[in-house]
Parts: sequence; C-alpha cells; structure tokens
Amino acid sequence: MTSASCANSTKPPIGVYMHVPFCASRCAYCAFYKAVPSRTAIESYLETLKLEWDLRYRGEPVGTIFWGGGTPSILSARQLETVRRIFPGPLPALKEWTVECSPLTVTKDRLAAMSDIGVTRISIGVETFDEKFLKLLNRQQTIGQIFGAYELVRNFSFDINLDLMFSLPGQKLCQWENDLRQAIALDPDHLSTYCLTLEGETPLATRCRNKMLPAEHGGEKFHRLACELLRTAGYEHYEVSNFARPKKECLHNVHTWQMHDWLGIGPSAASQYNGRRFKNVSDLNQWTFGIRDENPCEEDVCTLDENLLAQDAIIFGLRMRKGIRLPKSMDISNRNACLHLFGSWCDKGYMEYRNDAHYPTERGLLLADALAVEILRTFNESSLANEDGCTDYSAVSLRIVN
Ligand code: SF4
Repeated sequence: MTSASCANSTKPPIGVYMHVPFCASRCAYCAFYKAVPSRTAIESYLETLKLEWDLRYRGEPVGTIFWGGGTPSILSARQLETVRRIFPGPLPALKEWTVECSPLTVTKDRLAAMSDIGVTRISIGVETFDEKFLKLLNRQQTIGQIFGAYELVRNFSFDINLDLMFSLPGQKLCQWENDLRQAIALDPDHLSTYCLTLEGETPLATRCRNKMLPAEHGGEKFHRLACELLRTAGYEHYEVSNFARPKKECLHNVHTWQMHDWLGIGPSAASQYNGRRFKNVSDLNQWTFGIRDENPCEEDVCTLDENLLAQDAIIFGLRMRKGIRLPKSMDISNRNACLHLFGSWCDKGYMEYRNDAHYPTERGLLLADALAVEILRTFNESSLANEDGCTDYSAVSLRIVN
C-alpha cells in the first residue's frame, strides 16, 4: 500500500494520540504547550482524558496508540495503569503502543506498569550524549542516566526509539558523529534525528538572536552524516528524520503520514477524525472545562475532502521511502500536473518510477520540503484555499504532526 493511495482505500483501524502536557522542567528550545505537574492537576487530567475519549470516540478498532508530550513518563506507575481504563475492553486490532519517556523518569515500576497495560514501544528523549550540549539545551538528564534508562528499558521486551537532535549552536560535525556512534552502539530498534529549530521566544532562540551563542548553521551535512552512518549500521532510512531496523518503523507515525484517521485527546492534541482535522486548545484549564461541558475548545478546524487528503498524502509521501501512487479519484488536472512534476523529478534524480508508483530517492528525501512547496503550487488555488485555511505546508505539518 502506498502513501497517497491510502486516503481512498478501505479504512484501517484508527490511530490514537494522547497528549500529556506535563513537564518537570523547561528545555531551552521547547515551544510546546506544557503545564506544571501537580498530583491534583494530573488526576484531573486523567479523569478528563477519559471523558474526552467517551465524548469523541465512535467505536472504530484502534490500531496504534502514541502517548506523547510533554513527559508521559512523569506519571506514576498507578497513574499509568489508570490510562488503560480509558479504553474499555480488549483492543484486538492494536499493533503498537508507544510512550515517550524522559531518561530521568524511567523506573522499573513505571516500565512494569506500561508493560502490563500493553505498551509495546518506548521512545527515549536522548537528544545528545554530550554533557555540554545537554546543559545548553537545559535537558536535566546526565549521560549516566541516559545509559541507565536504556538498560532498564532493554530489560523489558519493548521496542526502543532514541530521539537525537543535531545542528545545535556551536556543534561540530565530529560531535554529532560521536552522538550517532554512541546511539548506534546501544543498538536501538529505531532512531529519530531532528534538526534543532529555534522557535519564537524560547530561551535558546533568544540567546542565539542576541548573539550570546553561535548562530544556527545549515543542518544538511549533519543530516547526510546521519544517513550515511545509520545506513551503514543497518538502519533503513524510511522517512526523512526516521531510521529503523527492518519491520521496526513507527506504525503510528506512518499511519498519520498516510492520512489515515487518528483521534487526538488531551490539551493541544491534533486529530484527523470523522471528516475533520482539528486541534484541542493548548490550555489545560480551557480544555478541561470544554470537555466537562461537552463543548470541546477546538482550534484550526478544517473540513476534509478527497483533494486535500490526496495533496497531504503526496506531501508526506515525499518524506517517505514507501512510494506515492496517485489516487484515481484525484482531480484530473491536479493529477496530470503532479505526474508532470514527478516526471521532471525522475529526470533530476529526486524520484524513481517503478511498479506504478513514484519513490523518493535519498537525494529527493533531502529536498522533501522544497518539493512539497512545488506540490502545493501545483494543486490549483480552489483545491488549496478552502475556507478553513489549510493552504500552506507549514500549517499542514503543524496540524498533522502532534
Ligand atoms: S521534555 Fe519535551 S515537552 Fe517537555 S520541555 Fe522538554 S522538549 Fe518540551
């Protein structure tokens, strides 16, 4: 099944995204919404999460669950067990349940609770193995705690992802290489490598803007190095920022990138569900009151249609190795224009055509964002500028990637 074709096919089980807004401290680069954790706030959050599920869920089978944040692993073992009660009964279609964990909060009790409720995959926020950069990013963990957390998780039967970040202010290529080699030596099932983005008024962005830190520099050579080292180590580069051992891709993320439905619950969680794309308000109190009043506070609400889904599936397909097959139901003028573009990208070595599908090459993956802009231009104005405002790639990405 190829990415762009999925928008039209028989609906697979839905994905579920649960957002935990709590963090014990603030990373210097983080622009996500987060709330201060307290026992009362967490208990109230968990109760409201259950209410939101009951309010929104329409009974489809659930194929994947992704619990992100924030810091989901800030919850106690008992609170983690409470989460399972959000979903009544067994989940026979469930193939993957990921929980994002900060190394500091990984404990045997919590992991045992996660294993008991059916979690299959742990994503550890490492970011870097360099103490100096951990401090710069205001990550609270030490290198020893990262290794300790990894060892604890490995003692269970979870699949493991490590998140790494590159292009940090002042980072040299050899330091990034060291991060990659340390990660590879741990032999995780999956690695996500992200280029640092300096957003808005985050402390790191402010310091760089005020020239207190070296300016951010182009991440391309860092990204190329990651591709080279991780491929050599046997990881498949299946999405621009993601590398996996065979059959260890993150199923939840692939599901959303292919434009299948997912229901997001929790403050600031995005959803693509029941013909709409929308985002919960990024405020714990407003979210709580809205759900308890059975009148959820939603933002960026967008009605979905075939053309929008096809366009977004193509854009995200440009970031994946799975290949793009244009849906037959697609508007004919958009379809022809896309095929024309794809042909020119094949000539330039950005894509390959085989078995009725177009596959981004390694070079094409590096240019995915620029190619996406071309796709947006190609879709005619009427199919893009719908009233709800899903007209530009950055907005689309923000809505889709929770
Ligand atoms: S743990 Fe994640 S969500 Fe929390 S402050 Fe750090 S980057 Fe932001």
